[in-house]
Amino acid sequence: MHEPRPSDIVALDHAHLWHPFTQMQEWLAADPLVISAAEGNYLIGADGRRYLDGVSSLWCNVHGHRHPAIDAAIRDQLHRVAHTTLLGLASPPAALVAARLAALAPAGLTRTFYSDAGATAVEIALKLALQYWRLRGEDRPGFVALVEAYHGDTLGAMSIGFSETFHRFYRPLLPVERVPAPYALQRLEARPESEALAIALERLDETLRRKRGTIAAVVLEPLMQGAAGMWPQPVEYLREVRALTQRHETLLVCDEVATGFGRTGRLFACDHTATSPDLLVLGKGLTGGYLPLAATLATEEIFRAFLGPYDGYTAFFHGHTFTGNALACAAALASLQLFTPAMLAAIPAKAAALAAALAAAVRPLPSVFEIRQQGLMVGIELMRDPQRRTGFAPAERIGHRVILAARRRGVVLRPLGDVLVLMPPLSIGDDEIATLVAVAAESIAEVTGA
Ligand SMILES: *Cc1c(COP(=O)(O)O)cnc(C)c1O
Repeated sequence: MHEPRPSDIVALDHAHLWHPFTQMQEWLAADPLVISAAEGNYLIGADGRRYLDGVSSLWCNVHGHRHPAIDAAIRDQLHRVAHTTLLGLASPPAALVAARLAALAPAGLTRTFYSDAGATAVEIALKLALQYWRLRGEDRPGFVALVEAYHGDTLGAMSIGFSETFHRFYRPLLPVERVPAPYALQRLEARPESEALAIALERLDETLRRKRGTIAAVVLEPLMQGAAGMWPQPVEYLREVRALTQRHETLLVCDEVATGFGRTGRLFACDHTATSPDLLVLGKGLTGGYLPLAATLATEEIFRAFLGPYDGYTAFFHGHTFTGNALACAAALASLQLFTPAMLAAIPAKAAALAAALAAAVRPLPSVFEIRQQGLMVGIELMRDPQRRTGFAPAERIGHRVILAARRRGVVLRPLGDVLVLMPPLSIGDDEIATLVAVAAESIAEVTGA
């Protein structure tokens, strides 16, 4: 086949593509970087240049690109079949991954429902929660979600999330009560860190008391609210939220689409406090970042509520054409097999090396307001005047300019506004951690004139 030239790709992209989360006017004004291959922790540009994948291809790559075991598992599966439906038929990779997830996930989460994106897996959790209560004879239309939550961009997921920038054109469709996590109290209400946890729990307790009998579930991103700009939580928060949802007899949904699969230093963020939610949402890293696959895990208690005779019509009437796709499940199975105890045990040391490098090279820069980290998940917030807490004007495009400066130095990043995100593959090596942080520091210094 005739290889298209990079300039042809740019022309076709500019003529026909509409990119996600992108102001296309800005996009069309510049030549994009074309990535045509990758290897390990590096992306390879169409011009042959190599770039460290500093945000794991939007937070999903786990073991590096073109991992021999995952590549082989997909090829193997391709020799059998690429896709068959789970509507009315069983499939080996889908069953094997479900069994593996039941063994690895927090205790009690025994049932996997597949879909193909984090957002659809969130929709499934919401629908399961609504129907669960209806099947128990209760009408509970409401949800409790966190201030600045992000759960994806479909209508239901967007309703429980809310970002003014992302979602202001779409009014939430579901009745949602919003409560602040501790960090939101520090940021938005200037509460001291020492009081934030207690106040956050009081607010949730008060909300669940006031809305008693109407809340289907409390939904949250445990340990780190990613898209909010990397807003961390103390580990006790999740444990206490679990206790409150039990006391007020409602469900807890944990969205670990971003935090799952080793990202925070344990396999799941819930594992830091041995917390078991009623529903667990997984996506991004499930296939090692290879193929679109997501999962909503449920307890046996929720699963059993849906059982009944055919003509009772209590089944969960939900599915997607590619639910449980065989190639994606084969990739997931291979990825899960790579999470050996030794591999998991190595993550905290990498996180510590990253923290130490950031403290030395990035923390002293005058425009750095905060460095927020959980495991290999980092947000560096930049401000014009961190002492007075005044940010840069959005039109200055500081975050964007910093990632362009990083790109010139051979590192690909993607910011959240003026929060520089570092989220390397878990396979990142010590030298690469040093490079990542050095490039981040130089790029911030270059753009902010430090
Ligand atoms: C990315 C993300 C989602 C949405 O996942 P998609 O696969 O992009 O639909 C949901 N929740 C969280 C916490 C995320 O980070």
